[in-house]
Amino acid sequence: MKYFLGIIGGGVAGYTAAAKAIEAGKNVLLFEQNTLGGTCLNVGCIPTKTLLYSAKQYYNAIHADKYGVNAEQVSFDYTKIQQRKTKVIRKLVAGVKAKLNSELCTIVSGSASLTPCTPSPKGEGDIKYVISCNGETYEVENLLICTGSTNFVPPIPGIQDNPCVWDSTLALEAKELPSSIAIVGGGVIGMEFATLYHELGVPVTVIEAMPTILPNLDQEVVAILREKYEKASIRILTNTKVKSLTPLTPSPEGEGECVIHCATADGENIEVQAAKVLISVGRRANIQGLEALTELEYNRGAIVVDDFMKTNLPNVYAAGDVTGKIMLAHVASRQAEVAVGRMLKQIPLQRIAYNAIPSVVYTNPEIASVGITEDVMDCEVHRLPMTYSGRFVAENEGETGLCKMLIDKKSKAVMGVHMIGNPCSEFVAAASFAVRMGYTVAEFQQVVFPHPTVSEILKEVL
Ligand code: NAD
Repeated sequence: MKYFLGIIGGGVAGYTAAAKAIEAGKNVLLFEQNTLGGTCLNVGCIPTKTLLYSAKQYYNAIHADKYGVNAEQVSFDYTKIQQRKTKVIRKLVAGVKAKLNSELCTIVSGSASLTPCTPSPKGEGDIKYVISCNGETYEVENLLICTGSTNFVPPIPGIQDNPCVWDSTLALEAKELPSSIAIVGGGVIGMEFATLYHELGVPVTVIEAMPTILPNLDQEVVAILREKYEKASIRILTNTKVKSLTPLTPSPEGEGECVIHCATADGENIEVQAAKVLISVGRRANIQGLEALTELEYNRGAIVVDDFMKTNLPNVYAAGDVTGKIMLAHVASRQAEVAVGRMLKQIPLQRIAYNAIPSVVYTNPEIASVGITEDVMDCEVHRLPMTYSGRFVAENEGETGLCKMLIDKKSKAVMGVHMIGNPCSEFVAAASFAVRMGYTVAEFQQVVFPHPTVSEILKEVL
């Protein structure tokens, strides 16, 4: 039997593609070596947000007095927090399974690889790829590679086989909180975990090689977060590189500690001591099992794709983190939709609007943005504290927040929006819509926002 589509990887990209192909009446083969849902559902977005939500509940409770609420002897049970995380994951994974429950979809549990004997297909006529998994072989007409990415471990002496060292997966699985943590890499993963541990009372140090944390975001917004976090005694070392790690001998009653030897850009040596060291310095594409596709093109370890997610090989597509484009779950799912649309030769073929991809960092306050940053283009910059929103003032005691909107000087189109303040993650999609559709200020002003909501800031800022 030849399947219309073979998908390697059942993460967000893989299951989205499978669902779209099934909907179009095509038979699909989906290989997954771990659990359906991939990184996002099992060891990424969802578990992190679930733990962060518990942490926020606790943090808000201990600071409830600013809203006139006295909550005494507030405590948390980390075992229960972890159990709830597991329950949430199970529920969502079951949802994915239900979505793919179709006689058109065959799910194979195991590690798939392309067979070395696969003849190199020449044209689009009679193409087939042969995938092997658990000793069986399967023929597919189209191949979609959605193998995702893995935490990158930098070659720092003392990092390998060090019981103090965690990656994000180990941190999510840990049954107990560490007594202190050093986070290497102040990017998205690093700052979200910094938030989690800080809110649950763990002393946190963030070590970032660049001059700023979250270096890819609007720096005015990032400065607000940094100021708040430093005031709350999160230690943030920027322009600082880790040179090596030395484990300290564990005390008989407690966990071992680790000394992190760092050097600043000015040559100063700093030592940080922590019970655990979380390494969050980026992720790398998973390309194992594809060796038989000898002519598949890569760029810096990620699969090269065109605007329609097609690789340089006939009928071979890739979507998600493995393409190394933007490692976000919502990008992966859109890439999967585009890839299947291209396979199905849907007219008109759609591209991904990379200029309008929203991104959120789940710190507290949240950061949400879409579109260009100021350094990319000379724009009109409109800025307003979030306190211009009545709802924001009502619900965010002591916070100021910021909303910035970047407008093209000539066309007056909305080019970018950058925000800090809760719950901006929930309405950044409205800004994405404006950027995606190329709305001008005049057009955007005609949109009616519900009152009182924090989203009104998007109109106030103009
Ligand atoms: P990242 O690229 O966001 O951040 C890595 C950080 O580590 C950078 O700031 C970099 O300068 C720093 N760094 C690199 N080497 C270093 C070193 N030796 N010492 C100190 N600092 C060093 O990567 P990440 O945080 O690991 O996240 C991986 C991917 O997952 C990203 O693409 C991210 O967008 C995605 N992600 C997204 C979300 C979300 O959307 N909320 C959440 C988590 C992860």
